[in-house]
Amino acid sequence: MATPAGRGSIAVIRVSGPQTLDICGSLFDRELPEAGCHRFGNMLRADGTAIDEVVLSCFKAPHSYSGEDVIEITTHGNQVIVSELLDLLYKNTARPAQPGEFSFRAFLNGRIDLTQAEAVADLIDAGSRQAASQAIRQLKGGISDAVDQICEAVTSLLLQCELELDFVEEDVELLRFREKMGIVRTAMDGLDKLLSGYKTSRSLRKGVKVAIVGAPNVGKSSLFNILLQDNRAIVHDTPGTTRDVLSGSCLINGVRFDLFDTAGLRVSKDEIEDEGIKRAVEAAEKAEIIIHVHSPDVSCNIVTDFTRDAATIRIMNKSDLNEYKDTERMIGVSALSGKGIDELRQLLYDKVADDNVIGATSISRERHYIAVKQAEKALLRVEEGLRSSLTSELIAEDLREAMLALNSLTGKHRLDGLLERIFSEFCIGK
Ligand code: GDP
Repeated sequence: MATPAGRGSIAVIRVSGPQTLDICGSLFDRELPEAGCHRFGNMLRADGTAIDEVVLSCFKAPHSYSGEDVIEITTHGNQVIVSELLDLLYKNTARPAQPGEFSFRAFLNGRIDLTQAEAVADLIDAGSRQAASQAIRQLKGGISDAVDQICEAVTSLLLQCELELDFVEEDVELLRFREKMGIVRTAMDGLDKLLSGYKTSRSLRKGVKVAIVGAPNVGKSSLFNILLQDNRAIVHDTPGTTRDVLSGSCLINGVRFDLFDTAGLRVSKDEIEDEGIKRAVEAAEKAEIIIHVHSPDVSCNIVTDFTRDAATIRIMNKSDLNEYKDTERMIGVSALSGKGIDELRQLLYDKVADDNVIGATSISRERHYIAVKQAEKALLRVEEGLRSSLTSELIAEDLREAMLALNSLTGKHRLDGLLERIFSEFCIGK
């Protein structure tokens, strides 16, 4: 099934593989449509009665998503019809697809590379406009093209090293040192570009974790509620009301932020509150952004110092009580009146959404990051090797390692285990 289970105006069942036309042809009461065309007709039971009126769309190998013969059966969106049709297809030698199998086959048939296959999953899961745009760019081969260019530079240098090895007797150096260094630099610049947007792209893909922390009663839960535009957290003037970490998501300019409301940080004598404080600290440690809330009527009683690299936004809440003049370090807001909340939203967005990154091609998965970093390390060794006049043989070894890392990004040289892991993230029917 290519559409989600449940009631709907239509449902789509996709069949892919060499026997697709035979299987579907035997159940359809008309001729199958030509490649790239649709045909209206009935899907029939063994006794000749109709299960449903359907539209069949036909895609012939290799011009289909999976690269195989594919038929899409569009039925009415009723699970009873869909189940009966699926049963009938299975009786006729079809079998249910594994999660991600359509994309896996597209990969095996050379229709897409690994980064593009991952982009399909990212596009389906995208929680924000920006994440969807990034996935589309990746699907259209953004990362693959960049990696191809880097591979080209590395290959040309590798070729040089091999040639020098062949002519080792004659002591021939085909390219000068400066030219070789130029090629390595070009490859390194390419890697830099891929790396530069990693953090932002990853945040866009996964959502941005924001922990709201501060002393008890400063208005953390009120702020959480107003940012979510929901009454999720209990607001009360009894300190220590929030014991556990509450979470909720909101979109700001199309980017998903996952907010965590935490227990007030103070020295407590209560075991349950202590546990809440421990969880608050953990949430803050995992967050990409911390909103540290202060308020004029609560003396700051913070027991933990958040000196770490997550971007911290300091706010003075309850600015309706005391007029607060914004400083570079702290802005005034009021969770009660809503004053300064739009500015706070913009600040959150600005912390992650670097427009240069949003419009560019960059990697967004840890797998990509590790591969690019490996390639970078190998190329740094190549640079060092060239500087210290290392033999071509040893330099070629590091170049090969860089190639291997780059190949693992796109999967052009297939690596066992890795493929299963990537495709297992897919849903069935994609
Ligand atoms: P938390 O313990 O930090 O989560 O704080 P709460 O959100 O539960 O709020 C504690 C008390 O402060 C409640 O009585 C709220 O109504 C009040 N409060 C929260 N935000 C504001 C604000 O912006 N202005 C005023 N005047 N009171 C607020």
